[in-house]
Amino acid sequence: MKVVAIPMRTRFRGITVREVALLRGPAGWGEWSPFLEYPPDVAEPWLRCAEEAMAGDWPAPLRSSVPVNVTVPAVGPERAHEIVLAGGCRTAKVKVAEPGQTTADDEARVEAVRDALGPGGHVRVDANGGWSVDDAVAAIGRLDRAAGGLEYVEQPVASVEDLARVRRRVDVPIAADESIRRAEDPYRVRDLEAADIAVLKVQPLGGVRACLEIAERIGLPVVVSSALETSVGIAAGVALAAALPSLPHACGLATVQLLTADVVSEPLLPVDGALPVRRPAVDVHKVAGVGAAPDRVAHWEARLAAVRALREDRRP
Ligand SMILES: [Mg+2]
Repeated sequence: MKVVAIPMRTRFRGITVREVALLRGPAGWGEWSPFLEYPPDVAEPWLRCAEEAMAGDWPAPLRSSVPVNVTVPAVGPERAHEIVLAGGCRTAKVKVAEPGQTTADDEARVEAVRDALGPGGHVRVDANGGWSVDDAVAAIGRLDRAAGGLEYVEQPVASVEDLARVRRRVDVPIAADESIRRAEDPYRVRDLEAADIAVLKVQPLGGVRACLEIAERIGLPVVVSSALETSVGIAAGVALAAALPSLPHACGLATVQLLTADVVSEPLLPVDGALPVRRPAVDVHKVAGVGAAPDRVAHWEARLAAVRALREDRRP
């Protein structure tokens, strides 16, 4: 196991340094990067995803490239405009409902993003469950007008029941993210008809094949998204996006550029708004260049031991 600590370009999800464990198996490296606050039971499926990569057990790709969105954090409109122009993508995902900000702030950001994309681009927003049902209905109407039409709204409210309520009151399609990957039962989204689109992330959901099965059973169009991985982890998301029978929306996999460094020689960065379907080779010199301090390595070794102990406990 190698542990790296990579500074973020902009604070994202409250994180300024991304810590990642890289694990080597017979078929190459896998990324295990559960966020630091996650306990062993939450971090366990993330390890299954790494182990699947280490075993080389990915399904055959059905396409050679994956369209991706640029991600716009909860920044001011000028910065949002710059990020979209620099991203070179036809789809932008805009973070909204940030604590301490208002819907007017979100409107200004969304307007700037539309201006940068032009009329042919797609604007989607992600509220990370930050609204109440009534706030969501009001904000979605305002942001849909500011965007000149939204592609969809991701997780406007926290609970799956509320997601279903919002979906019945707005015309903009609803995407479920946390309601799938943090839920006891990801299929409640389907059963309650709470969403039009399923956002799937390979690490929290236990790997590429596990996500393919969820996609089939949930019966909704899928958007594959990242968990702020290096190119090693992003390659697993790309493998899922490449193997889905249909892929009508751009994926949220263009996040390597949120990190100031990577661990491969040819990072998975978008070209003309799409990622190539490939598995980049780890560069040991790059890994060494962002190696974590010994106390952090020890921390990750203890985390890995805790997940393995949990598996032993669960064994019948
Ligand atoms: Mg999301």
